[in-house]
Amino acid sequence: MAKASASEKTLQDLFLDTLKDVYHAEKQILRGLTKMAKAAESDDLRQAFEHHREETDQQVQRLEQVFEIVGKRAQGKPCEAMQGLIEEGKEIMDEFKGSPALDSGLISSAQAIEHYEMARYGTLINWANELGMKDAARLLQETLEEEKKADALLTKLAESAVNQKAAA
Ligand code: FE
Ligand code: ZN
Ligand code: FE
Ligand code: FE
Repeated sequence: MAKASASEKTLQDLFLDTLKDVYHAEKQILRGLTKMAKAAESDDLRQAFEHHREETDQQVQRLEQVFEIVGKRAQGKPCEAMQGLIEEGKEIMDEFKGSPALDSGLISSAQAIEHYEMARYGTLINWANELGMKDAARLLQETLEEEKKADALLTKLAESAVNQKAAA
């Protein structure tokens, strides 16, 4: 089948495009979380990153299941937003290495990433429902819940010891 011209593109096409974007983003996040876990000063923060990295492995697999549901090959499309967020995270790691504010910086970078993901998954769930793909919506919802929990845990860590240390 010929590639649809812009005027013929549908919500289904938009869904697939965004799925590819998130697939690429999650794969970048896998590497990002590994680096952030290594950089973290506090044990709690390192464990949070390691735990979310394991969840992210599952999230990549869920996305592959969603590609299967739509009958398409799992394929990423470079997510410039996530590349930028990861890049900012690296800057923080370099510029605040060895400083008491490092963990606060890592948390802020990680939360920006989680919020991007929450926006993306929220949209995908909406569209999956719109398109009548209940199983896809359910898989995406599972991931959204993990992203929300990861974000909430980071907020908790930010409010506890980590920032007190940075402010001292
Ligand atoms: Fe994720
Ligand atoms: Zn993305
Ligand atoms: Fe993107
Ligand atoms: Fe996440």
